Amino acid sequence: MAGLEIREVSVRYGASTGSTRVTAVDGVSLTVAPGEVVALLGPSGCGKSSLLRAVAGLEPLAGGRVLYDGEDLAGLPVHKRRFGLMFQDGQLFPHRDVRRNVAYGLETQDLSRAERDERVTELLGLVGLAGYEQRAVPTLSGGEQQRVALARALAPRPRLLLLDEPLSALDRQLRERLAGEVRAALVETGTTAVFVTHDHAEASVVADRVGVMDRGRLLQVAAPDELRTAP
Ligand code: ADP
Ligand code: ADP
Repeated sequence: MAGLEIREVSVRYGASTGSTRVTAVDGVSLTVAPGEVVALLGPSGCGKSSLLRAVAGLEPLAGGRVLYDGEDLAGLPVHKRRFGLMFQDGQLFPHRDVRRNVAYGLETQDLSRAERDERVTELLGLVGLAGYEQRAVPTLSGGEQQRVALARALAPRPRLLLLDEPLSALDRQLRERLAGEVRAALVETGTTAVFVTHDHAEASVVADRVGVMDRGRLLQVAAPDELRTAP
């Protein structure tokens, strides 16, 4: 099957330390079709981030499998998965200007400088920051920084983009506007994505389908207007 397949995945913590074991993700199955955006929604501590990190290869699987385009990713390290990552704190390089932040993921690709600049300009346009190439990161607002982080994550054309609460540090009004912009950028680039959030409105704006999690389990997956109850 094309796209992402999460099959009966479990994630546990504390196995090696002998401390109390926490089952953060408990047998979750979910598929994400090519070009689809799926949100993982649920309260803090329900395992959203752990599941995302397991898909990224940042957390070992205690059970289950993760496949992409039919290939089992077991043993494939993070950088070989060709996934993009974006977190709440965009973790931009503060001493690099916007152009060099966005170009970061292109450095390992075989592109001429002109091609790279062109791609950066195109991406900045896509996230509403046309003309920002030479701005210094510390002069940007929080929302602008997350737009740059999105452009940087999209630059290498990842086959899957994993976003972990990318808007949570922003105030509510900005968050709702940016959620719409993130969706537009994902749709425009045809990017397959999983978007973790605890915000119901944000999930509804961003995603084609929403997976609702609680205590490590996936309770339902539905289109935003078909969710059974607002969690
Ligand atoms: P969410 O992203 O929904 O807030 P998390 O995946 O961060 O949930 O956490 C799920 C559960 O796993 C919580 O009980 C959390 O305390 C626990 N957890 C997360 N990361 C770790 C870790 N590195 N070590 C131990 N427990 C963890
Ligand atoms: P999120 O809300 O996105 O899940 P958190 O603030 O819960 O982020 O977690 C931030 C980091 O701390 C993550 O790397 C997570 O794995 C780790 N973490 C979360 N809960 C625990 C915990 N109970 N014990 C140890 N590490 C944890």
